[in-house]
Amino acid sequence: MKLIYSEDHRGHAGAKEMRYDQMIPMSECPERMDIILAGLADAGFSDIVPPNAHGFETVHQIHDPNFVSFLERCYPLWEAEFGPGGFATAYVFGMRGMAQVPNQSVHSMLSCYTFDVCAPFVDGTWQAICSAKDSALTGADLMQQGEQAVFSVCRPAGHHAMKDMAGGYCYLNNAAIAAQQHLNNGAKRVAILDMDYHHGNGTQSIFYDRADVLYASLHCRPEDEYPFLMGYATEVGEGDGKGYNLNLPMPRGTKFDVWGPALECALARIQAYAPDVLVISLGVDAFAGDPVGGFELQSDDFLSAGRMIAKAGLPTHFIMEGGYELEALGRNVANVITGYEEG
Ligand code: ZN
Repeated sequence: MKLIYSEDHRGHAGAKEMRYDQMIPMSECPERMDIILAGLADAGFSDIVPPNAHGFETVHQIHDPNFVSFLERCYPLWEAEFGPGGFATAYVFGMRGMAQVPNQSVHSMLSCYTFDVCAPFVDGTWQAICSAKDSALTGADLMQQGEQAVFSVCRPAGHHAMKDMAGGYCYLNNAAIAAQQHLNNGAKRVAILDMDYHHGNGTQSIFYDRADVLYASLHCRPEDEYPFLMGYATEVGEGDGKGYNLNLPMPRGTKFDVWGPALECALARIQAYAPDVLVISLGVDAFAGDPVGGFELQSDDFLSAGRMIAKAGLPTHFIMEGGYELEALGRNVANVITGYEEG
């Protein structure tokens, strides 16, 4: 399986994040990619191809162009005010009853275009964002050219990113951009299976009123976990999209005996939908001991998950999302891919 990867993510580093009552180094760090690539190489996957530079035509079908422009301009504006070396983050969020149209101040833009304290901007953030979306777009193009399965090994992740808001380590929604590119390349229907521990609030909201992209997610229930406000089973889509959003929330502490059947359920729905392409939001933070997670999956469970995904028999585009337990991260990601290739 081809791995689409670029070194251009590396400058997105050095910021801190708030973890309840303290500021800590970001769990979402460049070393994650090194560990994932090493784990994949150990398992025999080392066919790395660089992403091709794409424009923003497909990105603008998913995201507000003013938001995308903000992502590019945010850090330079911040640096002009505060000097180099720090990181930009919002101080106020545009909540109910507050103006949602930003003025020319970077603070106002941050307030309107981010929804939490987990989307900092440093000097290398925009370059990393572009490399991730190009990795997703290139993966879609390779599949149009005949590849049956590819893996966009990219960061920052994307599934929390909404049409016009960044948050949860996510800026542009790589999986959503890939799904749109598959449609642009001729697919009639695309399914997105989100196996990250956290609910993909961004992906859900982007496609909530559309029937050409089915979104199915396995995640920790909003009563227990981030993003706290979305991810309920009652969220089934609206308008044309009604019936094309499937949430399978589970409580903290969930093991594979419950998670595995939930995956079967999601895959059954996906097969009934008969998509031309399956996009996998590949997070492995459901692993037991993940510092950002709370499920109890074991490394071998990810092998099983890969085999189950393969049984769906669909052209499959894997896109990297979360996973922060660095010791097992490489093995867990490689196990999904190995299971898929075996399946
Ligand atoms: Zn996650």
